Amino acid sequence: MPPAPVLDVRVASVLDWFATEARDLPWRHDDCSPWGVLVSEVMLQQTPVVRVEPVWREWMRRWPTPGDLAAATQADAVRAWGRLGYPRRAKRLWECAVTLAAHHDGAVPRDEEELLALPGIGAYTAAAIRAFAFGERDVVLDTNVRRVIGRAWRAQPLPPAHLTRGEREHAASLVPDDAAASVAWNAGAMELGALVCTARAPRCAECVIASDCAWLAAGSPGLDAAPRRTQPWHGTDRQVRGRIMALLRAADAPLNISGQASLEDIEPGQLDACLASLVSDGLVTVADEGRGLYSL
Ligand code: SF4
Repeated sequence: MPPAPVLDVRVASVLDWFATEARDLPWRHDDCSPWGVLVSEVMLQQTPVVRVEPVWREWMRRWPTPGDLAAATQADAVRAWGRLGYPRRAKRLWECAVTLAAHHDGAVPRDEEELLALPGIGAYTAAAIRAFAFGERDVVLDTNVRRVIGRAWRAQPLPPAHLTRGEREHAASLVPDDAAASVAWNAGAMELGALVCTARAPRCAECVIASDCAWLAAGSPGLDAAPRRTQPWHGTDRQVRGRIMALLRAADAPLNISGQASLEDIEPGQLDACLASLVSDGLVTVADEGRGLYSL
C-alpha cells in the first residue's frame, strides 16, 4: 500500500469530526478484546448497529473468549444469534471459535493470511480486525466507506455493485500514513457513511466535508435514477427460512415444522425447500426423519 504523504483536506475533516462525534460502541472501547472486535465485525456484516449491540453484549457475556464459544454447541450459537438474520454467520462464527481454540491457542491472529484462513472471515473482515483490534494501517472498505469516497471524491451517487481495482487503489491512497490516524479514518469514514452520507437521503447540510464534496458541487446528480439494491422481503425464501429458524430457536424439543399452524400460510413446496436448504446449510438437524421432527 503506497503511503499518503499529504493528508487530503476531506480526510482531515473526517478525522476531526470523528474525534468528537463517534458513537460510543462497546467494541470501540480500549478494553475490548480482538475476539470482541471479530464478533462485532461478523455481526455487523449485514445487520445495523442498533440491532447488533444487545446481541453482541449478551454474546460476549456468555462467551468472552473463543474457547468459551468453542465449548458450547453450534445450536447454542445459532440460538443466541436471535434475529440478526443470515444465521449462517452464527455457524461460521462458532466454527471460527473452534478453529481459534484448536490452532491459535484461543487467540485471534493479527496476520492477514491467518485471518483469511478462518471460517467466515473474508478480505473486508480481516482488514477490519487488523485495523480495529490491532491498530494496523489497512484499507477497510465497506459499503459506507465506498459511498463516502465515491461521492466526495468521484461525484458518484452510489458506488458500483462490485469493488474495482481502481476504486481500491484510490481508497488506499487516502489512508493516512500514521497508523492511529489510519484507524480513525477507516472508522470515521464508515461512521460518516452510516450516519450522514446515507444511501438514499444524505444529510449534506450537516456534513463536515460538504464544502469539498465533488458530488454536492456537481449538484447531487443521479441519485433518483440509481437502481435500488434493496431486496423484497415478504414471502421470500429468506423470510420463510427466518420464520422456521425463529420457531426452532424458541423450541425446547424437536418440532414437526410442516405441522406448525403458524406456518400454514406458506405454500408447502416452498416450506419444504426452505427447510431442506437449512438442513443442507447445517443450521437445522433432522431429529427424527420418520416423524418429520427437526431441531437446531
Ligand atoms: S456532502 Fe453530502 S454527499 Fe458529500 S460526503 Fe457529505 S453527506 Fe455525502
